[in-house]
Amino acid sequence: MLNETTSINVTLTKNSHINEVDWSNIPFGRIFSDHMLVMDYANGEWKQPEIIPFGNLSLNPATSAIHYGQSVFEGMKANKSENGDVVIFRPELNAKRFKESCERLCMPGIPEDVFVELVKKLVDVERDWVSTKEDYSLYIRPFMFATDDYIGVKPSETYKFVIFTCPVGTYYSEPVSVKIEEYYTRAAAGGVGMAKAAGNYGAALFPAKQGQLKGFHQLVWTDAKEHKYIEESGTMNIMFVINGTLVTPSEEGDTILKGTTKRTVIEVAQSWGMKVEERKVSVEEVVNGIKDGSITEAFGAGTAATIAHIVRLGYRDEILDLPSVESRTFSNKVKKYLDDLKAGKIEDTHGWCVKV
Ligand SMILES: *Cc1c(COP(=O)(O)O)cnc(C)c1O
Repeated sequence: MLNETTSINVTLTKNSHINEVDWSNIPFGRIFSDHMLVMDYANGEWKQPEIIPFGNLSLNPATSAIHYGQSVFEGMKANKSENGDVVIFRPELNAKRFKESCERLCMPGIPEDVFVELVKKLVDVERDWVSTKEDYSLYIRPFMFATDDYIGVKPSETYKFVIFTCPVGTYYSEPVSVKIEEYYTRAAAGGVGMAKAAGNYGAALFPAKQGQLKGFHQLVWTDAKEHKYIEESGTMNIMFVINGTLVTPSEEGDTILKGTTKRTVIEVAQSWGMKVEERKVSVEEVVNGIKDGSITEAFGAGTAATIAHIVRLGYRDEILDLPSVESRTFSNKVKKYLDDLKAGKIEDTHGWCVKV
């Protein structure tokens, strides 16, 4: 049975390509480190996890995940401080969310402590891939998919869990412009919006492309029923500073992804004595708030970018500009705080950085 003492077979590569990487120019998600962790599920249980050289997987064309979408993933980061310590930021939240995603897709869960141990073990093997350079980190991608060679529609009986890692620099170098989407939807009540399910992202590509053709980087998703309330921005949670209060759409219901970054920003704001509201946020409130100046900051929050400032918002035929990035006291301060925390420059009073 799988538990936190489960041993992991490690086979190290004989051909590390770490010296071939151009560290001054790392595109997001295209460079992979030397190893990956693989673990199979069959006959009602997880088999022994293995760390092996990074490489292709071989799949039967009938592999059920490809046809019917039983596939979920996670995303988190490891950072290295100047003294060489490698830390992962709040992985227990990813472990919990991964379990919830699996449950929603009828997939077997992985005990949360085991999930964290497996991530730590792989990052430990790849610690040379975690750069100390400012704004650099090691992106960690755990995922699971159904592997039955069967094209009947039913939950698969076999699965593969894989973790691989990518060295990354900053994700969005530029502040973003977004468009309020009032036709297409990302998630409906009763659907899978709260899961990091692969299909959610495939379904969002076409609407996102329409927005990009109109000159916007991302869409702001609204509720599927009335298109009256704001939910998320692209693949990030969305947050506002309105009259000095941090405001973000509430996670109640099952349409909003429970982001680690958003949760962290909320907790930091509270520890600084700032008022925080998790509630319904209407499109009307945001449009009027930008016009009358009560909204002083708007940003996306997610692991890849941490904070992505929103500087322009398209609503129907209107284009609304937000205050300059330099004027944004809270989001700049919180971004610096989180960067410094992960880089080990300030004390981790919350106990969020898990040492590898
Ligand atoms: C991953 C993700 C987020 C951000 O979650 P983090 O844990 O902060 O990275 C927000 N929204 C969606 C739709 C996501 O997929």
